[in-house]
Amino acid sequence: QAGSQSGIITDDLPKRNVGIMTSGGDAPGMNAAVRAVVRAAIFRGCKAFAIKEGYTGLVEGGEDYIKEMKWQDVRGLLSEGGTNIGTARCMEFKERWGRLLGCKHLIEAGIDALIVCGGDGSLTGADLFRAEWPSLIQELLETNQITQEQYDRHKHLYICGMVGSIDNDMATTDSTIGGYSSLERICKAIDYIDATASSHSRAFVVEVMGRHCGWLALMAGIATSADYIFIPEKPSSSKVWQDQMCNIVGQHRAKGKRKTIVIVAEGAITSDLQPISCKDVKDVLVNRLGLDTRITTLGHVQRGGTAVAFDRILATLQGVEAVKAVLELTPDTPSPLIAIDENKICRKPLVEAVEKTKNVAAAISERDFEKAMSLRDSEFKEHLANFMSMNSACHNEPTLPPEQRKRIAIINIGAPAGGMNSAVYAMATYCMSRGHTPYAIHNGFSGLSRHESVKSIDWIDIEGWNLIGGSEIGTNRFTPEETDVGMIANYFEKYQFDGLILVGGFEAFVSLEQLERARSMYPAFRIPMVLIPATISNNVPGTEYSLGADTCLNSLMDYCDVVKQSASATRGRAFIIEVQGGNSGYIATYAQLISGAQVSYVPEEGIQLDQLEMDIHSLKESFAVEKGMTKAGKLLLKSTNASKVLTPGVLADIINSESGGEFDTRTAIPGHVQQGGLPSPIDRTRADRFAIKAVQFIEENCDKMCGLRYSLEFPREDKTITRTAAVLGIKSSHLRFTSIRQLYDYETELNKRMPKKIFWSSTREIADQLVGRTKIVRA
Ligand code: ATP
Repeated sequence: QAGSQSGIITDDLPKRNVGIMTSGGDAPGMNAAVRAVVRAAIFRGCKAFAIKEGYTGLVEGGEDYIKEMKWQDVRGLLSEGGTNIGTARCMEFKERWGRLLGCKHLIEAGIDALIVCGGDGSLTGADLFRAEWPSLIQELLETNQITQEQYDRHKHLYICGMVGSIDNDMATTDSTIGGYSSLERICKAIDYIDATASSHSRAFVVEVMGRHCGWLALMAGIATSADYIFIPEKPSSSKVWQDQMCNIVGQHRAKGKRKTIVIVAEGAITSDLQPISCKDVKDVLVNRLGLDTRITTLGHVQRGGTAVAFDRILATLQGVEAVKAVLELTPDTPSPLIAIDENKICRKPLVEAVEKTKNVAAAISERDFEKAMSLRDSEFKEHLANFMSMNSACHNEPTLPPEQRKRIAIINIGAPAGGMNSAVYAMATYCMSRGHTPYAIHNGFSGLSRHESVKSIDWIDIEGWNLIGGSEIGTNRFTPEETDVGMIANYFEKYQFDGLILVGGFEAFVSLEQLERARSMYPAFRIPMVLIPATISNNVPGTEYSLGADTCLNSLMDYCDVVKQSASATRGRAFIIEVQGGNSGYIATYAQLISGAQVSYVPEEGIQLDQLEMDIHSLKESFAVEKGMTKAGKLLLKSTNASKVLTPGVLADIINSESGGEFDTRTAIPGHVQQGGLPSPIDRTRADRFAIKAVQFIEENCDKMCGLRYSLEFPREDKTITRTAAVLGIKSSHLRFTSIRQLYDYETELNKRMPKKIFWSSTREIADQLVGRTKIVRA
């Protein structure tokens, strides 16, 4: 493969022969993991091996099951669902004799390090295998099944786990490979059901997977604003679940809701461990509420299809990290599990993760539900609490006493982004559950100059907003200073707002700064203000994630997959795809990572002619090597602002004239398709989490402004005060609020509309490495 060999990393890490297997239930993204492990191993000068059919491959051994993988063998894998190297549930490996065979076959193949991608069962097996390895290899030596030389070389087995499981049930990691793909399948199905439920005013009871873990049911419940969910971790007694469900569903109907969605996890139970089936739920809805009710069991649809963008990213970055981990391991270091904390790929002890996961199931079977919940990660608990408060919005007494209830304004600024509506929906319902009055400012700041642009939000008016793209309350790009700061202050005074939540991208960021600066002059702005970042460009300082970026990446990924298929069908064709993102190369870089495009040209780097020449040379070599092969289409991504001169058309002309007639190059411009249609489940559920955190921020900071509203001496520079105007974001492994003053004054390149520090530079390197692109190193 052109470029791949020339880019081998030369560091001090040992060169080991690395095996990768997928085991347990298949999960979308496993193929991306295999591709990443194989290519990262080759890139590091190691040999890579696929062990087919999970542990069966180890037990059976031989070339049919353990095969060396070359760079080309994993071409095109990114977009394929399931696992192409096969997976299985292998009973023999649970027996010592099976593992003894596994040990022998690994040694015969010369493998020193094993990366296992699977669920907790698979990783338990992996951990046991490593623990037993010294005794297994000793026995093989003593029974003359291996030589002394083989024994000396393979004395230690290095193991690393990656979690591939749609249930997202592994402790110590926020997400498992396949979890979000499965969630996407579920939400899509419920979105479809939603339309028919509304049309006929029906109830639907939907069963989703999750025998011991309610993550899929919970997240689907949030993403589709379901009326009720049943999950194993939070059961009610067999006497009251019917009342609890009917109370909520009945209230929703009484408020005018025409449809009812109840989501039941496969493992749903009562607190005395009696299973709750969809049929039980249906019977209650029919008999007690008289609802026309249907059951939909989603079954294996939830496992199927190609991986969503998040899972491709997760699997790829974790695969690269897993290879590094097995090369860094020493005989004394414990086996790691590659995890993710918020936005950070990290290593955790494998044994601890497996033990904690098993303890959840054990706690549930012992009816210790508090313990089960305490063993789930904090994000799970937070999501559950959020779902429950939002669901109680229209029927329970608000949780705050009247004197603590506030008037909170919500505004969308800038271009629409997936998740904006979900954020407004979540903020408003959470406000209602607390007793606050949520107000929507329609059509941005300039909308204020129009009559009746401020409206308090009613529960039934926003019903269903969670699922729709665009911005239902309107949005525009004008900042306060471009509108009229005095007029805005006047309206804020008129409505007596106690807090403001802005949702948007860089314009919203600039707007927040202007309002914070205007506090000295206008008392109306002496209220807590917080920005929820929402832009497909993901260029808001203070966060590594903005609402809409995931929806955009998924739209672009689908587009790239289709274009690539077309390019592959016509042998010898490349496509240049123009990608949005303003001055930020985030979308282009991650689109390269998840589509396997040969390059991504981004504004931060521009297009240098010597690099272009090298890329064209690599492209020619690739087409020469892959001549006649299937899946040989090539993509090149170019951010619009990477170059104004080298447009996709000009680039295509240059490449065509250099191709010597060996291949041809076309252009494809997805344009606004990139904003996406329906928001992705990640954008919906993160919008919910951000929205609730934002309302809590307003609640916590109102007191700090007390007494300052009309004081002549406003201590604007006081740190306690500046922190009351902040951006909410994900930074590495934390969710944080950062003051707008800090971000605007010290962390922003204003002329470029970008944060000074780019958090995704290392991802660019990985995206290039995995397609074998050689970059010219510049001083
Ligand atoms: P899923 O989340 O899809 O259920 P899983 O990895 O938990 O995935 P399991 O069927 O539990 O799926 O395990 C997969 C395989 O891992 C088993 O078929 C077996 O080969 C191996 N395995 C599981 N538990 C053990 C164990 N205790 N000892 C040895 N091997 C095991």
